[in-house]
Amino acid sequence: MYQKLKILDEKDKHLRMISKEATFPLSDKYRELIKHMIDELTYSQIEELAEKYDLRPGMGLAFPQLGINKRIIVIVHEVEPSKFDEYVVINPKIVSSSEEMIAAEAGEGCLSVNREVEGHVKRHARVTVEGYDMDGNKIRIRAREELSLAFQHEIDHLDGILFFDRIDKNKPFYTEAELRLI
Ligand code: ZN
Repeated sequence: MYQKLKILDEKDKHLRMISKEATFPLSDKYRELIKHMIDELTYSQIEELAEKYDLRPGMGLAFPQLGINKRIIVIVHEVEPSKFDEYVVINPKIVSSSEEMIAAEAGEGCLSVNREVEGHVKRHARVTVEGYDMDGNKIRIRAREELSLAFQHEIDHLDGILFFDRIDKNKPFYTEAELRLI
């Protein structure tokens, strides 16, 4: 039987801490955890498996959500039906970002936030992320649209920021004229 990850809830203190940089070589424990995260994110986006294992769909996870305050993120992006691109970035940094801002029209979700939070999260339409792969090789990723939002969301986790922190309480929703909604 598939053993589900223990994903911490937003109330856990690990979600509000600033994570430390990971060092190389990565331990076997971290490598296995990363593989488990990729599997679970993939399963969660495949309807039959999500139902079978009782998984809420999600495209990203960061180590602090599993109680480890290290700067490691994993994103599994469905680029076309049942085709997934996997990203594992150790010590990710946003090195450039577009002036253009966007938001997910339906709002954002988070596997650590087990309630509905309404509102648009304004983020950069495009970002370039630099970091390292699991073997310590330098990598650079250009992300746009949904994938760009995912990188910004996951990197925020490394700094103890949750998506609803970025929702403007005085103006939680934007119109299409004010902000491009995807
Ligand atoms: Zn999240």
